[in-house]
Amino acid sequence: MTTPDPIELTTYEHWIGGKSTPGESDRVADVFNPALGAPQKQVRLATSSDVDLAVSAARSAFETWGESSVTARARIMFDFRQLLVEHEDELAQIISSEHGKTIDDARGEVVRGREVVEFAAGIPQLLKGDFNDQVSTGIDSHTFRQALGVVAGITPFNFPIMVPMWMHPVAIACGNTFILKPSERDPGASDLVARLYQQAGLPDGVFNVVHGDKVAVDAILEHSDIDAVSFVGSTPIAKYVHEGASRTGKRVQALGGAKNHAVVMPDANLDFAADHIVAAGYGSAGQRCMAISAVVAVGPAADALVEKIRERTVVLTVGAGDEPGVEMGPVVTEASRDRVKSYVGQGVDAGATLVVDGRDLVVEGHESGFFVGPSLLDEVTTDMSVYTDEIFGPVLAVLRVPTLDAAIELINANPYGNGTAVFTSSGEVARTFQRKVHVGMIGINVPVPVPMAFHSFGGWKDSLFGDHHIHGPEGVRFYTQAKVVTTRWPHVSEESLAQLNFPTAR
Ligand code: NAD
Repeated sequence: MTTPDPIELTTYEHWIGGKSTPGESDRVADVFNPALGAPQKQVRLATSSDVDLAVSAARSAFETWGESSVTARARIMFDFRQLLVEHEDELAQIISSEHGKTIDDARGEVVRGREVVEFAAGIPQLLKGDFNDQVSTGIDSHTFRQALGVVAGITPFNFPIMVPMWMHPVAIACGNTFILKPSERDPGASDLVARLYQQAGLPDGVFNVVHGDKVAVDAILEHSDIDAVSFVGSTPIAKYVHEGASRTGKRVQALGGAKNHAVVMPDANLDFAADHIVAAGYGSAGQRCMAISAVVAVGPAADALVEKIRERTVVLTVGAGDEPGVEMGPVVTEASRDRVKSYVGQGVDAGATLVVDGRDLVVEGHESGFFVGPSLLDEVTTDMSVYTDEIFGPVLAVLRVPTLDAAIELINANPYGNGTAVFTSSGEVARTFQRKVHVGMIGINVPVPVPMAFHSFGGWKDSLFGDHHIHGPEGVRFYTQAKVVTTRWPHVSEESLAQLNFPTAR
């Protein structure tokens, strides 16, 4: 396995006003291939002047894009969608090589992202206003929604195409112009997306990409000509972005981290539950914000369930994401790999039972890759770091509780509230669970209940800061503001009846 010569690495540049540009910065970061553990490209890291440049391009494009017809905007979404279909394999390959997930998993995120484009193509229907005839004699009233202006999206590494697509198709179809600051760890998909938008006929400056790190994020938060910010990432940065953007008067939605529990009742089909928990815990090497990381076994379900999860875990095929038959790829960085291993060790030290130990896994031919095998810990308690912290790696922690009420209490005491699932054959249990649990997205015998594009995605508590969930109807609301118009067209001879009292309907 050869490591590319860093001198030969090409660099992802910003995409501003329809052109690739290095901007002013001479700072770059390496973009790794996690399966090889070696850099394969570099990415430019923006200065605040580069953000200024993108904002000017987006502001000037807004003057015409904000006035374009809703049908013209929908047509571009249709054409963009077609290009995404044609480039699905290429996008999946870029994602897999920079993130590490398997090609099929990457293809899945391309499809889920594309579904938001399909939703956004229905923008004429979504932006229909309301009209009331005769709210008072001779007076009508209607409401409609208009774009905000320039909006920015700041996104995490774990879904390099789907998470940005939770934002930009909806924002752009609503008539806004957009600046994306993708994760610096896997920026390649955003580069191609920008070119596909241009090919679809999107005017230059409507979709811009500024690559970077904290410097770029801070410049976005501080910029006085950005109207709204959507953020998805870890909880500490989500809080920081929510506070920073609010301080400078922007509309903001900031989605944070997670600890997602799967409750397994004794009446559940345990084989079915174990299959799905293994897929939801170890898929994408546990690096999904909706990954199951805590399994809450209720009463007598525990022993049999742990054994069934163990059987399925030890036979998983771990390897490079682009190799056939591989079910789980590496984690994204060396630091992530070391962090995952350290948490497993902390769990053991705190008294958890290590049922499967993935720490020593070596993938032949990929000895320098950022691999860590799937680990399973049983008898975990709520004070252990393996439970309290978001590990974001292939680690499942099993907690044992006596009743459904105790399971719900445990979930509600956790600061995160992104997703959760219950495995049961009882409708009564399912109904109680969905009504009582303090979590935004709930699966009933569905372990990763990521809502479809036409519903909205969002957690509760420390998993989301702001009022709006993302994409779906809430996305349209987030990226637009309402106007209410009250109209009178009096007949030339009509008496005015104006008076100083507060007007009421007549
Ligand atoms: P991250 O918070 O490290 O990075 C997210 C974005 O913030 C990136 O664009 C990054 O460049 C930027 N950033 C990082 N540090 C910063 C700082 N100090 N100041 C300003 N900006 C900074 O997250 P990540 O590691 O890329 O992604 C994994 C996290 O994202 C996990 O916590 C996961 O749960 C979360 N996530 C949440 C959702 C959700 O819908 N709630 C979805 C996907 C991922």
